[in-house]
Amino acid sequence: MKEFICTVCPRGCHLKVDENTLAVTGNSCARGVEYGRNEAVNPMRTLTSTIAIEGGIHRRLPVRTDRPIPKSKIFECMEIIHQCKEKSPVKAGQVIVENIAGTGANLIATRNM
Ligand code: SF4
Repeated sequence: MKEFICTVCPRGCHLKVDENTLAVTGNSCARGVEYGRNEAVNPMRTLTSTIAIEGGIHRRLPVRTDRPIPKSKIFECMEIIHQCKEKSPVKAGQVIVENIAGTGANLIATRNM
């Protein structure tokens, strides 16, 4: 049995997911079932971080993935992010790394700099 707190809404239901049957209990609505099953099988997260930038008003540029990526890919993505370096100007939403670590997600800037 795996336990999670549902983060789909502020209510924060305490979910229990049976690893064999993927039966979910503790949810107050159907969205918790989907969340619990996804967390048990393939948890996903939007990755946020910063990269080095030259010529900007700050030395680091905030970035994030444009969609959630598998948690198992986060360290691989962070290794790529550590090697990234951009030059100003950069626009919010600009793609920094396409299809980062083969996740299908792009790493994008989250502000102009
Ligand atoms: S199970 Fe439903 S009510 Fe409970 S936190 Fe998740 S989305 Fe909200």
